[in-house]
Amino acid sequence: MDKFEFTEHSHRRYNPLTGDWVLVSPHRTKRPWQGKVEKHSQDERPQHDPKCYLCPGNERAGGINNPDYKDVFVFQNDFSALVPDIPEGKYEKKDLFRAESERGFCKVICFSPRHDLTIPEMEVEDIKKVVDLWCSEYEAIGALDYINHVQIFENKGDIMGCSNPHPHGQIWGQHSVPGEPAKEAKMQKAYFQTNGQTLLGDYVDEELKSQERILVENDHFVALVPFWATWPFETMIVSKRPVQNLLQLTDDERLAMADVYKKLTVLYDNLFEVSFPYSAGIHQAPTDGEEHPEWHLHMHFYPPLLRSATVKKFMVGYEMMGNPQRDITAEQAAQRLKDLPKVHYKTLK
Ligand code: ZN
Repeated sequence: MDKFEFTEHSHRRYNPLTGDWVLVSPHRTKRPWQGKVEKHSQDERPQHDPKCYLCPGNERAGGINNPDYKDVFVFQNDFSALVPDIPEGKYEKKDLFRAESERGFCKVICFSPRHDLTIPEMEVEDIKKVVDLWCSEYEAIGALDYINHVQIFENKGDIMGCSNPHPHGQIWGQHSVPGEPAKEAKMQKAYFQTNGQTLLGDYVDEELKSQERILVENDHFVALVPFWATWPFETMIVSKRPVQNLLQLTDDERLAMADVYKKLTVLYDNLFEVSFPYSAGIHQAPTDGEEHPEWHLHMHFYPPLLRSATVKKFMVGYEMMGNPQRDITAEQAAQRLKDLPKVHYKTLK
């Protein structure tokens, strides 16, 4: 038998943030690469769409009009999944049936008044205003005594179930810490107690040494394909300095985060020359009033596209029953993204 090589042989990879495993099958990529076959006609959108409920001045549900905003704009979601004013309560039956009330609320952030732009096409200075708004919202929402977790996220593209192309994201504040960050908190805490450093701080140091999976880097942030990536072109933005949450970022670091956010999403758009869909979200310390030296601020990008603008990855079959599986390795995905032009494809035409 040959020596084990993870470039060649099927293997599983451990995710120290979640404690989960992903099965990697590099041999399967030896099947011929389909490449990108179809060129999508660019969806030409107007700068202002009178029918868009996120554009400045337009009417939203319930007859409220958006202000004539000039950069970013935040409002309480007219159809929130969480509401602040509910009675506290519990339901318990035999240990088998458990429910408890959950208070919170949902906000929407418009990234730009321009209906036709997305993050990779915006100026870094304007993306910085999005980062600034994340910071002020995290602070204000987190300060509420019944809110212990603030989830900032972005759902981009109609295949991600996002029906409105106007550039926007969401912020949900809630009483309990949900599953994903709770898993990551546990693993980061265990690592910090053993090593006295944050898990992602040590991890990024190693990645910077090898450079193999680093896509974008500036003075304060990196974007990389994590070693344990699950989605075909999954990435993370991580601060180089161990900061627990957005509020600990200096003004320079906020600008650096905006810069990496843009550069990463430019690579994404250039991969198949389409507006690249993904779900992205920021993980950071809970707002429970405690110190969390184990937490290290980061942002996940989970994009579903696999081989072209339309061929996407589904987590079904073995992946639903067993655990996630992938064909293209993290290193192959990183190489493909690194080889792409750094300038947005639309501006090259
Ligand atoms: Zn995370």
